[in-house]
Amino acid sequence: MKPEAAIRNQSHVTHSPEETIALGRKLASELVPPVLVVLLGELGAGKTTLTKGIVAGLSAVPEEEVTSPTFTLIHEYGAARRGRTGRTPVYHVDLYRIENARELETLGLEDLLAERAVVIVEWGEKLGPALRQLAPGRSVVEIHLSASSDSERRIDIRVG
Ligand code: ADP
Ligand code: MG
Repeated sequence: MKPEAAIRNQSHVTHSPEETIALGRKLASELVPPVLVVLLGELGAGKTTLTKGIVAGLSAVPEEEVTSPTFTLIHEYGAARRGRTGRTPVYHVDLYRIENARELETLGLEDLLAERAVVIVEWGEKLGPALRQLAPGRSVVEIHLSASSDSERRIDIRVG
């Protein structure tokens, strides 16, 4: 059984950013690179907050250093863990400013995945049909986030 099977189709409700970060850390332990983690949800839904937990959980960097790559588009958090499989780079991509398929292509998401990386993508909605092209033979974890109140976030995880 793939480790990601353990997180298939889960729904969570968190009540603080700290809880969302803790959930991200737990998720991190289930990820097997190369894997594409697609985050969907509106501004303020908690995509960056969850990413802090995932990145910290992979021990790439402390969570304070994880910020939205809104202007640079991609952050690389370096070697996440060493082991039998060697280096696992962790990439954090924000597609907020991406306007079309051509811009998306220049990001080279495919190349990032080819590095046996963990690739976390905010505003996954913007992948559109490109998601299907990236997906074959790769693990994709889709996470929908939404605010149900000021401090409550619903977080639905789907592994496919
Ligand atoms: P996004 O990246 O989706 O735009 P952020 O993670 O940057 O969202 O912002 C989420 C905002 O919501 C932060 O200001 C955070 O403090 C706040 N927040 C309140 N409750 C939660 C929660 N349960 N989980 C995550 N963020 C929360
Ligand atoms: Mg964000």
